[in-house]
Amino acid sequence: MKVMIKPSAVRLLKLKLTLLALSISVFALSPSSQAQQRRSGQRREASTLSMTTNAPRNPTIARIVSEINAGNIERTVRKLVSFGTRNTLSAQDNPTRGIGAARDWLYAEFLAASRASGGRMKVEKQSFEQQPGKYPRIARPTTLTNVVATLRGTQPASENRLYVVSGHYDSMCTSPTDAECDAPGANDDASGTAAVLEMARVMAKYEFEATIIFMAVAGEEQGLVGAGYFAEQAKQKEWNIEAMFTNDIVGNTLGGNGVRDRRTLRVFSEGVPSSETSEEANVRRGVGGENDSASRQLARFIKETGARYVPTMNVMIVYRRDRYLRGGDHIPFLERGYAAVRFTEPNEEYKHQHQNVRIENGVRYGDLPEFVDFAYIGQVARVNSANLAALALAPARPKSVGIVTTRLTNDTDLKWDANTEPDLAGYEIVWRETTSPVWTNSRAVGRVTSYTMPGMSKDNYFFGVRAVDRQGNRSPVSFPRPAR
Ligand SMILES: [Zn+2]
Repeated sequence: MKVMIKPSAVRLLKLKLTLLALSISVFALSPSSQAQQRRSGQRREASTLSMTTNAPRNPTIARIVSEINAGNIERTVRKLVSFGTRNTLSAQDNPTRGIGAARDWLYAEFLAASRASGGRMKVEKQSFEQQPGKYPRIARPTTLTNVVATLRGTQPASENRLYVVSGHYDSMCTSPTDAECDAPGANDDASGTAAVLEMARVMAKYEFEATIIFMAVAGEEQGLVGAGYFAEQAKQKEWNIEAMFTNDIVGNTLGGNGVRDRRTLRVFSEGVPSSETSEEANVRRGVGGENDSASRQLARFIKETGARYVPTMNVMIVYRRDRYLRGGDHIPFLERGYAAVRFTEPNEEYKHQHQNVRIENGVRYGDLPEFVDFAYIGQVARVNSANLAALALAPARPKSVGIVTTRLTNDTDLKWDANTEPDLAGYEIVWRETTSPVWTNSRAVGRVTSYTMPGMSKDNYFFGVRAVDRQGNRSPVSFPRPAR
């Protein structure tokens, strides 16, 4: 039994929710920050209330955003669908059907995109043989291949700092182990794969201080196998992955609930780290911070950067690792201690996910291109690319950030390690009330490695520290641990 919602009721509900969000956002600000905003004459809307800086937009990032082309994304989605199935267990050596054909086509496309980089982007096939036993959906030895395009950073102090963005190019029909059925996978996840390819195409010709890895992975539907392999390799080689984005199911704007929403993009981030040790959990119970993991800071950064560069899109932070009891390719990264988030459309349509293509009682099932909103995927790619560029142009988030606890005081003493980037300008302290979902205030404190917030008790606020370079690029926030 389906509950049908009338469009007028939906509009009314949306209006109510908007008003509710507005009133919540206003109350989330401390009285002093409200006064500050009145003084500076800023008018802020609900979607931009998370802004903690009025720094001008970086023109390079604005240009990247403007070059993302939804037409290219549509061509990629249709091409990937044309391979019939991209099930991980499907043909590896058929030139026109199966995952092997999709792999080779993607490799050639990333290679073509890399030509604009002047040799800075390297494209590889990361292949490995998965033996049966570990994943129930892989019953015999199977070769999996991730297509990986690495755009090397140009600043020596930052080139080993990595940002990873991925989509999964494998697909499935109703049965995850059926290698023969048609599995168009237009939304799940040609949409994310096409967004990543378009970002690589646009961003290859730009220079970034840190390194960006654009990746199309296999085996997601078999148990996050391709992403898991990449994350494990990264951990073993001690790669400094500062953030990972997965784009999965980012192309449908008409939900099974009847709601059409082309402006909202969900970003899922966990609060308590999947990799937290029992010792870290003890500290967290003592000082708070269940809403302040590195992944949650990343989500806040994404919301703020998205509002700055793609103001027509509403980045909706969800306080969950992923959708209810479901998973995605960011999880293997989280489990290995990396900050990672998942991007997904706001209202899913389950008739067009993991379904054999068919008509049943007049209803069409299957993940087909006609149910995909290509302009929306373009917007998703814009939010992603703005954030990747902002991260890779900015300094690293400060390390070893601590709140000094050697004296009992009503001030808050913060300290951190010095960043090493040559273009570093200094640091900002950010803070918020403990019940606020986003950072509400910031203060530039210069090029120091300690700072005291006078008269502001660590009991009453959450604090963080971020780094700023001479161009005004800001890192994500680092949340302090108790220190001596
Ligand atoms: Zn998926």
